[in-house]
Amino acid sequence: MHDVDKIIAEIDRAQDEIVALTCDLVRIPTVNPPGEEYDACAHFLGDFLKRRAFEIEYVEAEGRPEHTARYPRVNVIGSRRGGSGPVVHLNGHIDVVPAGDGWTVDPFGGLVRDGKIYGRGVCDMKAGIAAAVFAAEALERAGVRLPGTVEISGTVDEESGGFAGVAHLAERGRIAQGRTDFVIIPEPLDVDRICIGHRGVYWFEVTARGRIGHGSMPFLGVSAIDGMGRLLQSVREELMPLLSSRRTDVPVVPPGARQATINVNGIDGGQPVDGIQTPCVADVCRAVFDRRFLIEEGFDATKREVADLVASVAARTNGVRFDVRDLMVVHPTRTPDDSPVIGSLERAIQSVLGRPAQLIASPGTYDHKHVARIANVPHCVAYGPGALELAHQPDEYCRIDDIVSATKVLALATLDLMSGGR
Ligand SMILES: [Zn+2]
Repeated sequence: MHDVDKIIAEIDRAQDEIVALTCDLVRIPTVNPPGEEYDACAHFLGDFLKRRAFEIEYVEAEGRPEHTARYPRVNVIGSRRGGSGPVVHLNGHIDVVPAGDGWTVDPFGGLVRDGKIYGRGVCDMKAGIAAAVFAAEALERAGVRLPGTVEISGTVDEESGGFAGVAHLAERGRIAQGRTDFVIIPEPLDVDRICIGHRGVYWFEVTARGRIGHGSMPFLGVSAIDGMGRLLQSVREELMPLLSSRRTDVPVVPPGARQATINVNGIDGGQPVDGIQTPCVADVCRAVFDRRFLIEEGFDATKREVADLVASVAARTNGVRFDVRDLMVVHPTRTPDDSPVIGSLERAIQSVLGRPAQLIASPGTYDHKHVARIANVPHCVAYGPGALELAHQPDEYCRIDDIVSATKVLALATLDLMSGGR
């Protein structure tokens, strides 16, 4: 039997184990925020890998303010070393977003029904972690002599920026150029799609300041809420049409996200509406904006455009002062077109699914940014089981046949990359 056939057969044989591992991971409610059960989940995964002869390291996010005694940030890495060939690192985040309302099943029950596994975080991305584990395991069971090293990490806080997770591993040099050759992140992007990057993010807060006055004589004050209203109007009428005219060459999905966008995340001005009211003109109003920019736009131009718009509104708005404060910047990433990690996954997808892979980019961001920007490893993509649209939804689920297919693809691509992408 050829290696590939043996690997595929081992994965088919391991289907129940793959499902069981996914369910076990779902039953550990690693909810973020605040970061529940990270230690338990990291050790569960570490113990699982240790029993399968992986070398295990635990990396706590020492020095990060969110790493506390109550909510420790614990990352785990398992390594299986073969020859001196490339190191392939499969990274999954262990945290999940809160369950929220609208569930018809227990979000942390790990229910299996009609060929699907249900639960919060099953597609985003505990099924992906299980797929990574059994991709590596299948190579061992098939008796393949590994030409390189496979690493599997379970990391924290992806849903809140990944600073104590992948960014921390990259800052410590644990994921780094020269040490890590290829990184695949099994985020839920569908079994035939390879994600080659994401748009940029610019979160900023605008504070409008007017002058307080008596609410019965509003003409004697200056309303900061009115000022903010003018800014929102300009955002809608001047900025948004410009943004929607800018399209990226990167294959961002869904199609609506192939352009630059802006969203108002929140607004707060004047008196708290649930509090006791007094007649006052609002002297302060704040709003937080989420601007997603294109690799073609770049951050500097994006920031300048916002500053110019605010300045032009200020010039037209008597008595209101505006301040802009940066909250978070994520630069866009894009895997090089000729990266072997793309080629290997393309070949594996064609071989397992019998159809060509589709290259896409994410509308949001994920830990790819830290791999590319901090670790300086350009050969990183996301590929994993589950539908992106189900992530963060009630009754989140992942199809078992998708998990199995993704496990096969990851196994073949990992071996291909270790063998020099032949
Ligand atoms: Zn995710």
